[in-house]
Amino acid sequence: MTNKIIVWLRRDFRLMDNPALYHAAQDGIVIPVYIHKPSSSTHNLTNSDLYHHQAVFAFQQTIKNQGGTLLIRKGNPEMILTEIVKEVDASALYFNYSYDPKESMTDQKIYENLRIPVQRFHSSLLTEPGTIINKQGNPYKVFTSFWKNLRALPIKKPLLQPKAINWYKSEPEETDLETSSKLRNYWKAGETAALEKWRYFLQNQLTDYQEYRNFPGIDATSLLSPHLAQGEITPRLIWHETKETLELISMEKGLSHRHEESAETFLKQLAWRDFAYHQLVEFPHIIDQPLQSSYLTFPWLKKDEVALEKWKYGITGYSLVDAGMRELKETGYMHNRVRMVTASFLVKHLLTHWLEGQAYFEKHLVDHDIANNTLGWQWVAGTGFDSSPFFRIFNPVKQAEKFDPDGIYIRKWLPELSDLPTKYLYQPSEASKEILKQASVEIGQDYPAPIVEHTFARERALEAFQRMKKGD
Ligand code: FAD
Repeated sequence: MTNKIIVWLRRDFRLMDNPALYHAAQDGIVIPVYIHKPSSSTHNLTNSDLYHHQAVFAFQQTIKNQGGTLLIRKGNPEMILTEIVKEVDASALYFNYSYDPKESMTDQKIYENLRIPVQRFHSSLLTEPGTIINKQGNPYKVFTSFWKNLRALPIKKPLLQPKAINWYKSEPEETDLETSSKLRNYWKAGETAALEKWRYFLQNQLTDYQEYRNFPGIDATSLLSPHLAQGEITPRLIWHETKETLELISMEKGLSHRHEESAETFLKQLAWRDFAYHQLVEFPHIIDQPLQSSYLTFPWLKKDEVALEKWKYGITGYSLVDAGMRELKETGYMHNRVRMVTASFLVKHLLTHWLEGQAYFEKHLVDHDIANNTLGWQWVAGTGFDSSPFFRIFNPVKQAEKFDPDGIYIRKWLPELSDLPTKYLYQPSEASKEILKQASVEIGQDYPAPIVEHTFARERALEAFQRMKKGD
């Protein structure tokens, strides 16, 4: 009798470099299963939930094109998997690890309790969490040391797409998973779309990555984050193809130093994901508590709903912050440099707890990733290891002048300012009445005055930091 292997898919919607699927295809008939979480009510769906559903549909179609059926069920994973085992008389369950602390607890129960053999595989990172440690056996606190170690490791080669999969066939499954037409305008889900985007970046944009990756007005980053978050492409594939490019460059005459530097920087950015997961697995409490416990007593201001709403809607009077928040609301994405500036503004200029910002990003980011978002917020807030120190406070105006020198990004997301001369774009309220009139901008009417003055906010934040340090 042929083995029937259930492959439980969560955020690994791909044929290439998918260990659970690869091994199942070798071992028998593949029964692909997706289980929709019972708690997700339509009302609470985040952008990343909506994109996740798009990814499910795209993979359902891939399987259908190959003559198989993706079983889509709703409910408690342990119960559903037990039911499916009976229903199809399965011989084994294979799935790829999740490093989300809650999910990994459920996974462990399934691993221990299911009455058929269960195999788990590492698939979503370059390295397994817990494997990059210092001489004392502890995780690295500083990214540079983590990176040095990771860079020297032989990263596993991606697995090939199985040649032929003997898919399980049944009646097509009806589903009521919701997607968003607005998000679909910006993001095309699926392994094919992810691979196309990746190859385009590799051939056309990688050379300039180092030089332009911090400029939100320039299309210079890969935009692979939603695909990586849903496992439509793996970092191992990206890593090896980047390295192959590096080798080709170094073999060519007239080798481009710029290209080489860019490829190294890109690999390094990719390694931040691993760093984030190493920390999350080692310190799962960081999802809602500061990694550095001294920050437990940080004197955040009492929650100011009005200021928080102004931040969320992009009406703070700081144009780079506002442009970023509007980009996020419209597309579910925000450029990395602008994520840092908007997050810093919330935490330091408004002295608002980073958990507020983390939750808002979780709801709106199409690429939401529990480890990356947590690390990003703790980094900006200064509460994580190897973070930007609290006393280094971004000046949102200077950041805008430096990273959006032609005002392309600000004009795109704040069309009400588009006629302002570039030098006034960064601080519209500082422009003379005449200039504002010529650009048809009335401060307070078309665009707000700053909700907080920079020097005042900076000093207030530094004072709060000193109070925490003194233990007041
Ligand atoms: P590229 O520059 O093309 O980088 C390639 C890939 O490397 C990215 O897709 C991502 O997977 C990884 N990467 C790059 N930079 C980082 C980084 N700083 N930390 C971790 N991984 C990185 N990234 C998410 O994927 N999900 C999040 O929820 C998330 N939340 C963030 C919150 C804050 C406050 C900050 C400051 C950063 C956050 N990031 C998050 C990291 C980063 O902003 C995004 O990964 C990046 O902007 C995605 O765009 P890209 O794919 O074009 O990146």
